[in-house]
Amino acid sequence: MSIAKCRQQLKLGKISARELVDEQLSRIKKVDKKLNAFLEVTEQRARADAKRIDDAIAAGNSLPRLAGIPFAIKDNLCTKGVTTTCSSRMLEHFVPPYESTVTERLWNSGAVLLGKTNLDEFAMGSSTETSAFGSTSNPWDLSRVPGGSSGGSAAAVAAGECIAALGSDTGGSIRQPASFCGVVGLKPTYGRVSRWGLVAFASSLDQVGPFTTSVADSAEILQVIAGNDPRDATSLKAPVPNYTESLDDSLSGLRVGLIKECFDHKGLSQQVKKSVLAAADQLQSLGVELVEVSCPRFNDGIATYYVIAPSEASANLARYDGVKYGFRSKEFENLISMTTLSRTEGFGPEVKRRILIGTYALSAGYVDAYYKKAQRVRTLIRRDFENAFKNVDILLTPTSPTTAFTVGSHLEDPVSMYLSDLLTIPANLAGLPAISLPCGFDQSGLPIGIQLIGNVLDEVRLLQVAHQYEQAADVMTNKPAGDCIL
Ligand code: GLN
Repeated sequence: MSIAKCRQQLKLGKISARELVDEQLSRIKKVDKKLNAFLEVTEQRARADAKRIDDAIAAGNSLPRLAGIPFAIKDNLCTKGVTTTCSSRMLEHFVPPYESTVTERLWNSGAVLLGKTNLDEFAMGSSTETSAFGSTSNPWDLSRVPGGSSGGSAAAVAAGECIAALGSDTGGSIRQPASFCGVVGLKPTYGRVSRWGLVAFASSLDQVGPFTTSVADSAEILQVIAGNDPRDATSLKAPVPNYTESLDDSLSGLRVGLIKECFDHKGLSQQVKKSVLAAADQLQSLGVELVEVSCPRFNDGIATYYVIAPSEASANLARYDGVKYGFRSKEFENLISMTTLSRTEGFGPEVKRRILIGTYALSAGYVDAYYKKAQRVRTLIRRDFENAFKNVDILLTPTSPTTAFTVGSHLEDPVSMYLSDLLTIPANLAGLPAISLPCGFDQSGLPIGIQLIGNVLDEVRLLQVAHQYEQAADVMTNKPAGDCIL
């Protein structure tokens, strides 16, 4: 059910918030043993929150925008009093004493917390397999990964375990799992949504955003979570426009650019390419003008990101030293061995790999050759986008070069895993808003995602184009035999 429909049904008394929550909880009980999308289900709190909404309805109070909507939250967003693990042994027992701004805004607008979802450890990965608490399965085919790092949130929405979820996106972690699971995932402009209370991975790239079953629902949630936050110094002061009122405005006159370098890439699956190009044709029939654009440095994004993101991560993760909070080894003899052993035992292999790469890239002899050079390439990538947006309003690419891969298939070769972020990373490097939404299915019946990228702070147009494509294509109604299998 869409958020707007829930709101209407609640208002009319056709359903209660308690019933909405109960429905989700029983769905979770039925399917989550197979999926492992949730690390924790906050059943009691969800029922209590729902009761408060029902009481408010009974008292005739006006309801806030997300009243009664059951949400799942990626477990790297701090929730006061609710364990927040980042899917790491390091934070296995961490109960935050404060609430992240985004979740606080959700609860203030009436949303209900159903539970916390699985992710790759500290959001480092593309498959949710690096979680210390077991991987999550793709609801369309349990032998496949749901994508990552927000795989738990994507799978939960796809399997109908919640109405919506939040994830975080540093290099594609909202959009890639959205595409693998056949749902909508939005990464807002860097700074549009507060990062306060999001456990930091790479601070110049991280951004929080929603997973939903429709673009209109994404717009509803962005409306609530967007806006300046004095507690996040990188949060933008720009006013928050109305994201829902212009979803149906005419598209005629808009120009959509197909990024040549993505479609020419040899790693792109032919089925994905075909489906995304068919989606572009459909957009054309809705009145937009299609043009081919070139972003010559687009494919350098991956090499750039894998210097910058680990560098920032190595600094951000220095705080887990066994002293202040988090895991502490029991075996130590002195301060040095305590820190060393705590980090050795508390972090998994992918996190250690990133810390090593980042520390190397920032070390005195190499910082010019790696980190500073990567920052220069980042500027070139941003300039490519600036040039492209002189001619077009929106850019279009596939979200991921392939559909969901099989569990374990990239684990032995981290670089092949990194390549699955090829098409999503450039938007993070340039700070641009981008959305993934379903555009079709491959021969195995797995969802394919299309990515639309907007100019800085142009979420209004991004959502407008995405919404009208979604309405016209009606991908989920026209899906081949088979379904989300659970
Ligand atoms: N898959 C990418 C990585 O491992 C992106 C992760 C993310 O966006 N959090 O770094």
